[in-house]
Amino acid sequence: MRFIDTHAHLSLLPCEARCREEKLEQLFRGGFRGIIDIGTEAGDLQTRLKAFARFEGIRFSAGIWPSPEAIAGRKRLLPCLERHISAAAQGRLIAIGECGLDRYHNQEANGADLLGERELLERHLDLAQRHRLPIIIHSRQAAQETGDILSQYPQVQGVIHCFSYGIPEAKRFLQAGYYLSFAGNLTYKNAQGLREALQFVPLDRLLLETDSPYLAPQPFRGKSAEPGMVAETYRLAASLRQMSLEALQAAIAQNVSALFGPCF
Ligand SMILES: [Zn+2]
Repeated sequence: MRFIDTHAHLSLLPCEARCREEKLEQLFRGGFRGIIDIGTEAGDLQTRLKAFARFEGIRFSAGIWPSPEAIAGRKRLLPCLERHISAAAQGRLIAIGECGLDRYHNQEANGADLLGERELLERHLDLAQRHRLPIIIHSRQAAQETGDILSQYPQVQGVIHCFSYGIPEAKRFLQAGYYLSFAGNLTYKNAQGLREALQFVPLDRLLLETDSPYLAPQPFRGKSAEPGMVAETYRLAASLRQMSLEALQAAIAQNVSALFGPCF
């Protein structure tokens, strides 16, 4: 059970606080190794730190997801995010993000502010550089532009979370030094391209995640995802890479330490 879920939104799990805590307790009692709880809003870090403070196996990121509201309000929200980052206790906050570009939701045709979206990502990269923290990138239907922006920040290390592209895009992000993280959609029937990308990624650049409560892996598809379900994604990834589950768990743990520091 030595699994690590490198990307979950624990506060979005659709159950009451007490039920959520019981589930997490049960998970960690069973040997689950660690969860990175991911921020999406400028002011959500304090609340999340407080809600999950007693779980040694949870670490945190802080960032602003590129919603139209966040893009429009970025001048006001970014200073707030930075205040929360500076105030966070050493060791609990281990990354900046998630942040990035989403051309599925934000399209020029719909009047989205693409320059603003780009600027929001660049300010996160500045933050990562200044605070010497890795960055967690959300990139959907925007591989080229994401790669262009990341290449301007060669000192920043990070991960392309919920990787959704093919081998050519994987190559570019790997060349830029990024890790690639695969979520539960790896197990979906139509995801052959993703499975090929997973087989292509060098073992020392691979991460796995749930993106809970989204993208529950098979056989849970359609339900709300929880960190424990990451086991299904590990099992499939191990079989695709023709390695044992234990060896994959060890490799992912090592990659987590290499990118985020020794946190679990
Ligand atoms: Zn996410």
